[in-house]
Amino acid sequence: MREFGFELRLCARLEADGVPSVGDAGVVARQLGTSVHEAGGRIVDAVCVLPGPEFDARTGLASETIPPTVLDADVPVGEYERVTRVFDGPPERARSLAERGADTGFLDLDRRGGQTVVRQHSRYPDWIGELVGVENKPDLGRPGDLERQLRHDASLGVLDYAVVATASHVTRAHLNRFPDEIGVWRADFDSDDPVEVVREPEPLDSAGPGLEVLDAKPGRTDVRPVTAAEKARQRRRVAERAYGKGWRTYDLPACARAERETEANADALPFCAYKDRLVDAASECGPDCPGYEAADAPGTDLDAERERHTPWCADAGGRRRQSGLDQF
Ligand code: SF4
Repeated sequence: MREFGFELRLCARLEADGVPSVGDAGVVARQLGTSVHEAGGRIVDAVCVLPGPEFDARTGLASETIPPTVLDADVPVGEYERVTRVFDGPPERARSLAERGADTGFLDLDRRGGQTVVRQHSRYPDWIGELVGVENKPDLGRPGDLERQLRHDASLGVLDYAVVATASHVTRAHLNRFPDEIGVWRADFDSDDPVEVVREPEPLDSAGPGLEVLDAKPGRTDVRPVTAAEKARQRRRVAERAYGKGWRTYDLPACARAERETEANADALPFCAYKDRLVDAASECGPDCPGYEAADAPGTDLDAERERHTPWCADAGGRRRQSGLDQF
């Protein structure tokens, strides 16, 4: 099975059935960066955010990702303050950051005494439970960079748990090559019980300092320390990005051979009758494909589907405010 289709089916299963041996997945998202120092360095295939104690407050706060620069700033709750006192840098930058926060619905902006002022209308909630990262490797015979990726996850500890998901038969030799903390799942989407736990993941040290693997060659591994505070900030960034992005970040192909496919509760996966499998429209579909026949994409509303099957609200915060403004 191709990795793209494997990943979508697994995300649908995690959303519906939870994270095996860990708990309910409040949020499931695809393709998120977890590196602290190396921007874009480590992209994890799927991330689940388990609900923390104030998860419900987050769902009512904003539909989108609240930008990390907004959360890192010391914006007062309830009381207005000048944007230039809250955000570092020139006034234009401060205003632009405040506007980005206001667009999501998390910040209120106003004018007082000729100055732009800003506040948080409510406290940022304690909504982030455990983070579980999943690396999808349907074929362990073609592991690519898998071992380095897993060493990165285990040593950095931005995630609470890290797992490899595969369709391959898993041998003792495979398990020995992965760090001990890494869990292993075997997925067979034709089975009644599609995700089998071959090895449970062990908790990573997500609260303490860590080491980020920057480069690894035979006989030499370059690492850089990460403090507990840097890690905590990155965990919030990952969780926020997951909340705003989700996993339905694909298009259905505009082709007569395209159909909607079902996996667990998700019923709008991009299936191609010509190739008889899920397809990534962005990279596989178009006039260059021998089966292509121009047509409208199968009708679907992926936001509505996400809202129907998860606690995520499509019109919270800024979206709600913008749809209200549209009426005028
Ligand atoms: S363009 Fe090709 S791969 Fe895409 S849906 Fe049509 S036949 Fe399938």
